[in-house]
Amino acid sequence: MENTRNFCILAHIDHGKSTLADRLIEKTGTVKPEKMRGQLLDQMDIERERGITIKLAPVRMEYQGYILNLIDTPGHVDFTYEVSRSLAAVEGAILLVDATQGIQAQTLSNYYLAEKQSLKIIPVLNKIDLPAAEPDRVAANLSSTFGFLLETIIRISAKTGENVEKVLQAVVNQVPAPHQDDKGPRALIFDSHYDSFKGVIASVRVFGGQFKKGAKVKFLASGSSGEIVEAGIFSPEMVSIESLVEGSIGYIATGLKDASQVRVGDTLTLAGNPATEALPGYRDIKPLVFAGFYPTENDKFPALKDALEKLRLNDAALSFEADTSTALGFGFRCGFLGLLHFEVVQERIEREYGLDLIASSPTVRYKVTLTDGKEIEISNPTKFPSSAETRLIKEPIISATIVTRETYLGAVLELVNYRRGKVAETNYIASQVVIKLTMPLAEVVSDFYDKLKSISSGYASFDYDLAGWESVEAVKMEILVAKEPVDALSQIVTRKKADEIGKKLVEKLKEIIPRQNFEISLQAAVGGKILARADIPAFRKDVLAKLYGGDRTRKDKLLEKQKKGKKRMKSVGRVEIPQEAFLSVLKI
Ligand code: GDP
Ligand code: MG
Repeated sequence: MENTRNFCILAHIDHGKSTLADRLIEKTGTVKPEKMRGQLLDQMDIERERGITIKLAPVRMEYQGYILNLIDTPGHVDFTYEVSRSLAAVEGAILLVDATQGIQAQTLSNYYLAEKQSLKIIPVLNKIDLPAAEPDRVAANLSSTFGFLLETIIRISAKTGENVEKVLQAVVNQVPAPHQDDKGPRALIFDSHYDSFKGVIASVRVFGGQFKKGAKVKFLASGSSGEIVEAGIFSPEMVSIESLVEGSIGYIATGLKDASQVRVGDTLTLAGNPATEALPGYRDIKPLVFAGFYPTENDKFPALKDALEKLRLNDAALSFEADTSTALGFGFRCGFLGLLHFEVVQERIEREYGLDLIASSPTVRYKVTLTDGKEIEISNPTKFPSSAETRLIKEPIISATIVTRETYLGAVLELVNYRRGKVAETNYIASQVVIKLTMPLAEVVSDFYDKLKSISSGYASFDYDLAGWESVEAVKMEILVAKEPVDALSQIVTRKKADEIGKKLVEKLKEIIPRQNFEISLQAAVGGKILARADIPAFRKDVLAKLYGGDRTRKDKLLEKQKKGKKRMKSVGRVEIPQEAFLSVLKI
């Protein structure tokens, strides 16, 4: 144990965590040079395409007689749960800061998370190879903000590998070895995934005892039990070993096929000699944003259920329950941590499970007091009561941090104000402004992050936490297509902005819904009163008519494309509505 070091890399998005992990993997010879590739630990297709880390990723390395267990983490606020789980499995953290960008919103939030967990924090400045890097200035800011001694801040380039060796030295010298644990054999499950051969595979940090292949095990919280069919380490791919010992990080395959028996945050112990106490789990994560998922083909409902159950193993922040929509049929109402999380889950279900989905637009949860005094929670616009039935409506409020260059302060404040935000305080770290504010979560859900990025040329960063509830005048806006209300298009909006949103929404839908061979009216209504209307004129849609001549392949391609487009349409009454329509409110 005294030769083991468990640590993670924390940083704001794009500051170079995964690239530093690459260099550490290289320098320790963990992966053969011919097998190396950029951002090696970002193994999901979706991570590689988007260039972001979504999942925590462990890797075990050996260096000068030490075993180094590293966990790479995501930087985006929607995946903070992955970060907090990683922190509970390690003793130290590298806090990486881009020397061209300085301290950003997630630098602050990650630092406080690691500090709360009493981890040894090693400050590292990255990207010193870039001409725009200002290592002296950023080091001074790190020192004054967090109290690091200037000379302890390591300056590296994760790209060229300069000074990366110093990071390894610091990990060995400064991160404490795992503690002796005397509560019996116990391991913390910090992640899990499903394998069709080995069943549920739990990623674990062993705190006490030994977990050997063949041993009978028990899960303390869920009460389920099983046998260790395989134990192993992350290299970073899974490599089986005889047993996982005290202080180590690895995986345990239990052969359990039922995904609900293994929960992230649970304590694994030996059935023959159970631990006397469970490890502190994680605070239960509450979804903030809700949307419906419906299979485009109605008979795929059981397949979607299976996909969601398996995906939840690998995505502890996902929640779901069965739901029906008159327009879209049987599906699930799902809970997410934010918009990016929602997009990622949808994409993973489609890719990893081969299902086509229609998603309804994300919304937050409301607390509604009815006129009879009863209090209910609503996270589905379809179920939102009419104004006559409600006495009081409360919406979730976040407390947020925005970090921006002074140049963009005016534009940022204007956006915050338009989105009903209230600034609590502003502080300066050199020419960066740290703005603390409160804002309704509903405003974040409708594209706040992208807007913030675009008005600040990509420079402003943003982090938030749920802070409480405040009353709001909200109403349900119904959308009627060809005079029929389409439940999955309903939105909850503030009364003040209802007119504006209604107008923009029907105009947007007019662009998105293809013309059909009869006229289609689009209406936005609140409490039966029509606020806006647009009409889609009739049109005989024949894409082939546009093509003269007999270019067969081109024709085939077009037909293929049309067929594909069709898959993502849902017939609602006589009208075919494309997937995009259900998310169009996000774009207005
Ligand atoms: P993460 O989001 O923190 O994991 O960041 P990544 O490791 O994915 O890196 C984000 C971007 O910064 C990528 O384009 C990297 O190639 C680049 N990058 C990372 N480290 C360095 C560095 O030391 N120098 C330069 N010039 N670019 C770097
Ligand atoms: Mg990364």
